[in-house]
Parts: sequence; structure tokens; C-alpha cells
Amino acid sequence: MIPLKDSQLFRDRAYIDGGWRDADSRKTFEVTNPATGEVIGTVPDMGGAETRRAIEAAERALKSWAAKTAKERANVVRRWFELMMENQDDLALLLTTEQGKPLAEAKGEVAYAASFLEWFGEEAKRVYGDTIPQHQPDKRIVVIKQPIGVVACITPWNFPLAMVTRKAGPAIVAGCTVVLKPAEQTPYSALALAELAERAGLPKGVLNVITGDPPAIGKELTASPIVRKLSFTGSTEIGKLLMAQCAGTVKKMSLELGGNAPFIVFDDADLDAAADGAIVSKYRNTGQTCVCANRFLVQDKVYDAFAAKLVERVKALKVGRGTDAGVSQGPLIDRQGLAKVEAHVQDAVAKGARIAVGGKRHALGGTFFEPTVLTGVNTRMAVAREETFGPVAPLFRFHTEDEAIQIANDTEFGLAAYFYGRDIGRVWRVAEALEFGIVGINTGLISTAEAPFGGVKESGIGREGSKYGLEEFLEVKYLCMGGIQEPSQFPSGPMWRGRDLGQASASVLASALVASGFAAIAVEVIAAGLRGLFPGLTG
Ligand code: NAP
Repeated sequence: MIPLKDSQLFRDRAYIDGGWRDADSRKTFEVTNPATGEVIGTVPDMGGAETRRAIEAAERALKSWAAKTAKERANVVRRWFELMMENQDDLALLLTTEQGKPLAEAKGEVAYAASFLEWFGEEAKRVYGDTIPQHQPDKRIVVIKQPIGVVACITPWNFPLAMVTRKAGPAIVAGCTVVLKPAEQTPYSALALAELAERAGLPKGVLNVITGDPPAIGKELTASPIVRKLSFTGSTEIGKLLMAQCAGTVKKMSLELGGNAPFIVFDDADLDAAADGAIVSKYRNTGQTCVCANRFLVQDKVYDAFAAKLVERVKALKVGRGTDAGVSQGPLIDRQGLAKVEAHVQDAVAKGARIAVGGKRHALGGTFFEPTVLTGVNTRMAVAREETFGPVAPLFRFHTEDEAIQIANDTEFGLAAYFYGRDIGRVWRVAEALEFGIVGINTGLISTAEAPFGGVKESGIGREGSKYGLEEFLEVKYLCMGGIQEPSQFPSGPMWRGRDLGQASASVLASALVASGFAAIAVEVIAAGLRGLFPGLTG
């Protein structure tokens, strides 16, 4: 039992159509604590049939949710944000227990995750359309934005709360409804969010959370014609698979995939700031973030000095259970993750790298690994090409700016890049030359709800966070209104006498709209005309 202040936040059933459900088969699977190996509990092992029901529930909820005003939707999501913050301690403990990150980091993730609900709720009130100067005298061009419809979200284990709110937050405030599949290692955080969403007043069917068999759930979500968009965060391999599966129904997609971030230290950098930034960028979440610095490129003149400063800081990192005081490095998520980190270190050492600190499994056992720095690294090693996803900092040496850019861009990935330097001309040149979606300049921390997060090349498609992240859940619709004649073409006679042009054109525009099937808009336009005729009329 996790000692939560509010035990109702521990939900071990899936959430579909406003109710807590078991799998049809009653089968479940276990969720374990990566710090201890202990079983925390079980969740339903669902498949295609349950996913179909979740999609249908989302479809039923769509019309009335989309019809609400942006302010009504934002009010519910604002309350959801407040409930997350009111339950920050419980959510953090749940997160640490199933994911492993230190409690202080987990609390930070709760606040970061909640910030997406706050920010998108505010931004949803500013989903503006456009009026565009017409190309013909008798036409008017208007652009409106509408929710895309039912959205599927698939999230990874490394940020079990933030990846949910970064997707479901903008989708829901935009007027979409959601079917979400969290990672099997970390379902409890997502289920707790569903519990809080219900308490906040989210109507049934607007958010559905299903747990179970990834390929079966994924196939249903991608094949369903009801689902109009898939938002996925995870590995490039699974992203490509889902992209292929979505082709059959031509779904809109957002993909936040793997990275291989360079972290460049130029010879005019503030080396202490660079070493601090390296710690944040590399060792946060025990090196298991998609924007983690994966390759440190250090200019020849400052290579040894930077290595010394980094090693000094790495030695101070405390490894242990996330719930223990002072711990800054938790376990890796599972044995597969541990094996990859170990293999990367062994490959580098076999090809000539030196271990400056760490380099092996931690004495605590389990999936704990020592925070590691490797020097003398070169581009023939696996650490140069693959995402390590662990606490290993390999230090490459370079001589010129061009060489640094060439090495940095020599990857199929393009999510985040970082560099430290103070020459303003070089800052601009390098920032523009790096082929990445996000560039941190003299900082190792770049994620925030206000800014667009996402990659280029095989790191993904689309952006999350910011106004760009909201656009991902909206369709642009262009209304071309024709038949707007000159005033001289209006019929004469008593009916038109004494009325202004605005009322007359409203009437003509309304007829044109009815003829083109825009009945609802026509009613609005007629009402506007009537209000002009009878100023007291307010309904
Ligand atoms: P993953 O194996 O691709 O899993 C991600 C999600 O996809 C999980 O929910 C997983 O479910 C699900 N999944 C797996 N196979 C599936 C299938 N056939 N159909 C449908 N869903 C399927 O990735 P991961 O190892 O959990 O996460 C680490 C990766 O995510 C890293 O590469 C990291 O860089 C990337 N990441 C990217 C970002 C970003 O914003 N770009 C952010 C965070 C992480 P199960 O867990 O149940 O298998």
C-alpha cells in the first residue's frame, strides 16, 4: 500500500465512459516499484474490445463537449489544475513509487504537468479565426477553427503525468474527447489524473484511460475511423509503426520520439555554468528524458577543465530510492534499460574510452547504475549514435565551430540540442545551424508549457505546449461566402425603406448561406439583422 493522504487517488481499474472498469477477460497485469522490485498492484489487461468501447464513449461525449464555450471548458480544466496542485504530495509519491524518480523531482513533475492544464485552459479562450481580404467583390472569406474530434493519446513511462496533461490538456480545452493509453510501467499516475478530472467536473466520456496490451490497443486506436488524431510520445521505432498503422484512416498525427541531443561547450563558455547545465540536462530523471544531453562535445582548449568540473559534480550525486532523503538519482526503469546503459559503457571502453567516474552497476543492486562520465570518446562508439537513456555522459573533443556543428547534426534525430558560449556572433550562427527542434543556449533546462516542444527529422512531427500545441487539436475550416451583391441590386419598396445597408446585406447573406446549407449560421445572421431592426431585442 502506498501511504497516500487520499487513498482514492490509487485507482487500479481503467476509466471508460465515466466508470472504473475491469478487462472483459478479468485479466490483470502487475506494476512494480523499480527501486525495490516489489509489486505495487495490478491493472486491467484490456485489448481491442474495451478500446472500441472507450472510443465509442468518446464519440458520444464529443458533440456536447465541443458545443460548450471555451470558457466553460477552461473552467473545468482550471479546477483539474487546482486539484493536481492540492494533491501534489500524493501524486508525487505515486509517481516515485511506480517510476523511481526522486520525490523532489516527482513534485516538480506534478507542478510541470499541472502547468499545461492551467496554460491551455487560458489559451483556449484565444482560439481565434481569421477574416481574409476577398479575391472577388461578391465574396467574403472567413476562417474558423474547430476541434478535430476524438483523439487517441499514447504516453511513455518517463514523465507519467506531464506527458498525459501535455496531450489531454490541449485536446480537451479545444473541445476534443480523448482515449489515452499510458505506459504499462506507470499506469497509476494517469489513472489518478482521471480521478481528479472527474472530481473537477469533466463529463463522462471526455477522458478515457485504458490499460493493457499495447499492440491490440494501438491497432484499435489507429484503425478506427472515429479517431481523428493520434498523439504519441515514445520511441522512434513504435512511432514509425503507429504512423504506418494510421495511414489507412489518414489520421492527423503528433509524434514526440527519441533524441540524441548534443551538448556543446565552446572555449569561451562559463565552464561552471556549463557543468551545472550538464548536470540538469544529463542526470535529471537518471538520464531518462528524451531531451537528455546524449553527447558532450567539448572544445579542445577547455576539454580537461570542463571534464574536471563535471566529474566533481557527478561525484556529489546521491543514488538511492526516490523516497529517501537527499537522493538525486533513482533506479533505471527496468532491466532492459539497465542492460542498454551497461552495453554502451562497455562498448565505449572497448573502443578506447576512459571511465572518469562511475561506469558500472551500483552497489545497491536492482536497476541502479552509477552516474558516469566517459572521456576520450569518439564517433565510432555506440554512445555517438544511440540514445543511452541513462546516467552516462560521454565527452567528445572538437577543435572548430564547423566541426562541432558537423558532429552535432550527424544523427537521424533532431529533438533538442544545447550549447554554451558567449560570442554573440557564434551564438546566432550555431543556433541557426543546429538541425534540432529545440536549442538551449547557455541553459540545460528548456521545457515549459509556454514554449513549443518537439523535434525534426526522426524525432517527430508536430509540437506540444504553447499556442502551437493547441493548434495540433484544431482543424482549420474556410468559409467562402458568395452572393454579396451591390446595394443597387436589392429589391425596392416599403420593406427596404429606411433600413441601413448592414441589415439588408445580412438578409442577402443569410439567403446565400441557407442556399449553401449553412442553416445554423444563417439563423445567427438573421438574428443579427433583426437586432438591427429592433434594438431592444437581445435574445
Ligand atoms: P515505447 O516503447 O515506444 O513506449 C511508448 C508507449 O507506446 C507506451 O505507452 C507503450 O506501451 C506504447 N506502445 C508500445 N508498443 C506499442 C504498439 N505496438 N502499439 C501501441 N502502443 C505501443 O517508448 P518507451 O521506451 O516507453 O519511452 C522511451 C522513449 O520515449 C525514448 O525514446 C524517449 O526519447 C521517448 N520520449 C520522447 C519524448 C518526446 O517528447 N520526444 C518524451 C518522452 C520520451 P507499453 O509501455 O505498455 O509497452
